[in-house]
Amino acid sequence: MSRLATLFVLLGFFISARAPVSWQSRPWQGQIHSTMNMGALIEVPHSENIKNIYLAGRKLTFLNSQGVWVGVLPKTSTALFITFKATGDFSIVPLKVNAPPLSEANNLRLPSSVWQKVQKKTNEDQAKRDQIRSIIMQRSGEPPKSCWQAPLKSRISSKFGSPRRLPDGRSYHHTGEDRSAQVGTPIKASASGRVAYVGETIVSGRLVILDHGDGFFSRYLHLKESQVQPGQVVNSGDVIALSGASGRVEAPHLHWEILWLGIPADPGHFLQAWAHLCGPPSA
Ligand SMILES: [Zn+2]
Repeated sequence: MSRLATLFVLLGFFISARAPVSWQSRPWQGQIHSTMNMGALIEVPHSENIKNIYLAGRKLTFLNSQGVWVGVLPKTSTALFITFKATGDFSIVPLKVNAPPLSEANNLRLPSSVWQKVQKKTNEDQAKRDQIRSIIMQRSGEPPKSCWQAPLKSRISSKFGSPRRLPDGRSYHHTGEDRSAQVGTPIKASASGRVAYVGETIVSGRLVILDHGDGFFSRYLHLKESQVQPGQVVNSGDVIALSGASGRVEAPHLHWEILWLGIPADPGHFLQAWAHLCGPPSA
């Protein structure tokens, strides 16, 4: 946890112990509910006296053209929302986060050959995962302006947040959305952006990461092959890869993620919530 985040957590306990914050008294009442689902896109309208807004230690992304602050709710039991006012005043709002219980996890049906392969832990793979982690925490460039779309039209075979259990008993929440796809299906960029990473890790298989600006990323996993190079600029809907069955998979499919500063968003919810924040597609 960064020093800033630690400060906010401590600040949150201190303030809430002294003077409990009343949700109803907040100016964004009606826009945000005090209990939300993990991965929800959070949107706070800007007002003259707001200087900065933080969620779980991360500064929200300001969409200047829309006059709103946006971010994604992490998977924690509670998260803190802190608004700094231009006057120097600030307010803290605790949010309760809903996540499906891991006790209800379904067993992943991984072929034993796949499970054998993904259990190999190498330093090289760890280094790649560290590199990916640092990439998706970066915030550079302008926030996304384009509309978002699903990377392919097909059945959702596993929803975001669904609880799963690995053959060794470890449980986790699904960080993306799985779409069934025969090997070789064209995969489209979810939004305009720049190619931030092309590579392969043991669990993710072949993957492409797009940077959409100011901390927003999308990831495409288990690919057969990528059709883009790092640094390349892509438009929403451009074909960036062919789907496959690489990495830790039960069967061929695309695992698709949208991330904000490393926090996975619920892609289905995100597309709906973002629809009024983007302009008409440019010609
Ligand atoms: Zn998946």
